Amino acid sequence: MNHPTPYTPPAAASPIRPPLDFAIEANLQTEEVLRAADDRLAYWDQEASRISWQQPHTRVLDWSDAPHARWFVDGTLNVAYNCVDRHVEAGRGDKVAFHFVGEPGDTRTLTYSRLKDEVCRAANALNALGVEAGDRVAIYLPMIPEAVIAMLACARLGAPHTVVFGGFSADALASRIEDCGARVVITADGGYRRGVASALKPAVDEAATKVEIDHVLVVRRTGEQVDWVDGRDHWWTELVGTQSPVHAPQAFDAEHPLFIMYTSGTTGRPKGILHTSGGYLVQTAATAWGVLDLRDDDVLWCTADVGWVTGHSYIVYGPMANGATQVLYEGTPDTPHRGRWWEIVERYGVTQLYTAPTAIRTFMKWGEKVPEQYDLSSLRLLGSVGESINPEAHRWYRRHIGGDRTPVIDTWWQTETGAQMLTPIPGITEAKPGAAHGPVPGVSVDVVDDAGESVGPGESGYLVITEPWPAMLRTIWNDDARFRETYWERFGGRYFAGDGAARDQDGDIWVLGRVDDVMNVSGHRLSTTEIESALVAHPAVAEAAVVGADDETTGQAVVAFVILRESAAAPDVEELRQHVASEIGPIAKPRQVLAVPELPKTRSGKIMRRLLRDIAEQREVGDATTLADASVIEHLVREQRGATAAATR
Ligand code: ATP
Ligand code: MG
Repeated sequence: MNHPTPYTPPAAASPIRPPLDFAIEANLQTEEVLRAADDRLAYWDQEASRISWQQPHTRVLDWSDAPHARWFVDGTLNVAYNCVDRHVEAGRGDKVAFHFVGEPGDTRTLTYSRLKDEVCRAANALNALGVEAGDRVAIYLPMIPEAVIAMLACARLGAPHTVVFGGFSADALASRIEDCGARVVITADGGYRRGVASALKPAVDEAATKVEIDHVLVVRRTGEQVDWVDGRDHWWTELVGTQSPVHAPQAFDAEHPLFIMYTSGTTGRPKGILHTSGGYLVQTAATAWGVLDLRDDDVLWCTADVGWVTGHSYIVYGPMANGATQVLYEGTPDTPHRGRWWEIVERYGVTQLYTAPTAIRTFMKWGEKVPEQYDLSSLRLLGSVGESINPEAHRWYRRHIGGDRTPVIDTWWQTETGAQMLTPIPGITEAKPGAAHGPVPGVSVDVVDDAGESVGPGESGYLVITEPWPAMLRTIWNDDARFRETYWERFGGRYFAGDGAARDQDGDIWVLGRVDDVMNVSGHRLSTTEIESALVAHPAVAEAAVVGADDETTGQAVVAFVILRESAAAPDVEELRQHVASEIGPIAKPRQVLAVPELPKTRSGKIMRRLLRDIAEQREVGDATTLADASVIEHLVREQRGATAAATR
């Protein structure tokens, strides 16, 4: 494993002055943040009252069996009741929960009371299929309201769901079903993507030849012909549609399993992360309120797929526990045209947009002329998650989407953390593009060196979480040994996130990228994030990925892959190499820069540097099962072969 060593945050680390984010009135107040820092358990004790319990907890945390935490000990609750019924009981049944927009242009509006009926019907239907508390249910759906309904129906029954992203193959689906032992699968005939109907049911049929599946519940979305197995397959409309809209929610223990979510697979084989009920709901609800700054009349649009943890925590559980109104969009940003997202923002008056750097960089590549054609003045907060947002992309997002008015929050967290962990806080923190700033209230983090000692200002090391937090993973499903080993052994009982980080002179935290991706050039440790951000700061570059490739003289050398902005004239490679050298220093100058049309990304949109490293070193590429588009790799391999002969040194 490579270890990051001293690192100075780039010049962009100085806050924007005058401080921009102070201008807004936000939910979270400084006093509360300070109080939480003083006594985090008292803070979480108080935050627990954000949700409804059938039985209150007797203790906030039991950590005696570390690293297995029990949060809100003895508390009982029903998560679906919290996300739906209680809003209806409070007289808010007519409030819109979702404005759904299908890719072909069809729309549906779901109020909380309508949603309550649907969730109850689906829970009754699952019951009729024999699903009981504790049984796992796999969900393999496009981004349609039934995905949310299915998740909440499972939660209502205490049947942990595992949502598998609709873009995954039959093999990926089968391996997840096998790992978690689900016997019921909820799917659709298909969904719409890039203007065409893409089938889902065939993948379930194929998975069923590999693993045992008792029942398949099928939503009709595209109307395409599907194969049918009588007795096993059931149409949603026939089975769910005929059930009673009444279902009494049962309260479960705070530690009752809520879902298993497989990680993105950026660094290797995906891990089945287990989340439980009470702590997870408290932290997602608290952060949706305090970090996304949700208010009653807001319209939130989190663009993640529900197949990822971001969709779980910031479409389904956190916002719905707050009774929020949201946009749910099925398709891609460029269908039928590149202004689709901005058209939706304008139409529904979206106030908070929460998306991923990969999307922002794509919009940068397309140019600002596209969003300029729409009225985006309803936006008051912009969020980013999934990878670090390069300072240049942060500024572009704020300027061209946020009209230079909105705070941009760069939120660092993981499937494992369940909820946001590091972020600037709207209304409180000064924005530093590229920085993750500090922890959310009630969370304690540190940056430590190899020996586990805290690093000082201007130094770098490993990001660790020093105290348990409510939404933390409870284990890796079926692999508790991997759970202990991956996260808890490296730094003696503190949680090791696997990411490198630095503290700047103000004590603020900068995430530097995966520890496994850190490069070592002539004995100097270099951060992928920093070099990529330098490349993206060049006016011709929209996106960049760098890796360390074996080098006879320097140990490792920097190899960069860049995607150019469409409007820009192609710069010469030497100019880009020089640009990095002048932004960071000669040591960071890439040995090779390759302009490419696409980068290999996971289905959740993260750059898979380990595959790029394989390409740069011209060896067989590793496990690519979570790769979004396999043809990208073939293309890159060809480019690399062609370019190597002419490589500049
Ligand atoms: P795997 O664990 O299977 O390799 P993964 O780590 O990509 O996949 P996720 O849980 O989806 O799976 O992603 C969490 C990781 O994403 C973090 O550890 C971090 O590397 C990166 N990340 C997420 N948000 C940010 C952010 N705001 N800034 C920097 N990195 C981020
Ligand atoms: Mg990870």
